This record gives sequence, structure tokens and C-alpha cells, in this order.
Amino acid sequence: MYKTLILATRNQHKQRELTEMLAPLGIEIKSLLDFPDFPEVEEDGQTFADNAIKKARVTAQFSGLTSLADDSGLEVKALGGQPGIYSARFAGRPGDDEANNRKLLQLMKGVPEDSRQARFVCVIAICGPNQEIQTVRGVCNGTIAAEPRGKEGFGYDPLFIPDGYELSFAELSAQEKNLISHRGRALQELKRLMSRMKRD
Ligand code: IMP
Repeated sequence: MYKTLILATRNQHKQRELTEMLAPLGIEIKSLLDFPDFPEVEEDGQTFADNAIKKARVTAQFSGLTSLADDSGLEVKALGGQPGIYSARFAGRPGDDEANNRKLLQLMKGVPEDSRQARFVCVIAICGPNQEIQTVRGVCNGTIAAEPRGKEGFGYDPLFIPDGYELSFAELSAQEKNLISHRGRALQELKRLMSRMKRD
């Protein structure tokens, strides 16, 4: 296990979720804010894993610390898996959650309730200072709601109803979401992996 980890993301929502879930491990968590000169990393991979590995590698190299990168997104069955790795910039401008949700609802107009299956996918890559890298993956299945619901979370949370629930991710508390989310599941797997690794 490691004493210090740097989270390779500027997304404050992801940072908050990851930090909360890692808290029980008692590891010091740093972020890219601790490295103001950190360069922008272009996410040009073809898969979540490609992008997570690239972000983790560059961050470990730059910081000299063990880094943890999350690449994640929503795959909608009726849209052939879109938006997938393009989830953050589905409607054009990166990180415009409202526009992304509007575009998703528009494309899902007329799709019947029993054909609205979707899943969130998260790949987390952990990269040590010597560039040794491992990945874990988490998936959460659900359906796309007919309209946005709830104020919690971020991204597509108001439109995603996890299987077995009546509420959207944005209507669940952070703790409830973390227990079943793609990111939560990937992190559970990562914790198992980390407990097998030696402390630096
Ligand atoms: P990334 O930063 O390239 O991994 O983009 C992730 C994008 O996927 C985010 O900007 C959101 O649009 C979406 N996303 C990933 N995880 C979640 C989540 O937990 N809730 C809602 N949207 C998410």
C-alpha cells in the first residue's frame, strides 16, 4: 500500500467521490491543484482503459508520486454505446453537463421504456513512480429516465436510474451512490489490489 497518492483529475466531482471512498485507507491524497504547472493531457485513446492509463502515466511521471486516474462514461444501448469515451464532450464543449443531458434526452425521444438500458463504466489506472501500471474496472447497469431528476452528483446523474432503484443517481445521497456506482465498484476492486501491494 502507498502512503501518498495523487488523483489525476481536474474534475472536482470525481475528486470528491474518490477522496471520500479512499478515506478509510488513511492515505494522503494530493490532487493536480498541488502541481499548478501540470500540462493538459489529451484524452485521445480508443477505450476508457487507454485514457486512464495515459492520464495515470503522465501524472506519475510529472509528480514522482503514485497516481490514480479515472476514465469513465455512459454507454446507452439504444445509441449503440454512445456517448462512451466521449461522455464529457458529447454536446461539444467539454464538461457542459446540462448540454450533454439535453442532447441525450433529445436522442432518446420516443425510445420506449423497455429499450432505455444503459451502463456507467469506470476504469481506474494506478501507476507507480517506476511506471508500473495496473487497471481495475467497475460497471453500474441502469436505464435512462424520461426527464432529469434530482440535484446531487454531476454529469448524467439526473438521467440515470440504477437497476433495482426507483431514484436517479442525482436523487441518491453521495454515500448511496458510492456503494453501487461504477466508480465505487472499481474502487472496491482497487482497494483489494492495493492491499496486496507493498507500501513504498
Ligand atoms: P472523463 O473525465 O473523460 O472520464 O469524462 C467522464 C464523463 O463521463 C463526465 O464528464 C460525465 O459526463 C460522465 N460521467 C462519468 N462518471 C459519472 C458519474 O458518476 N455520474 C455522471 N456522469 C458521469
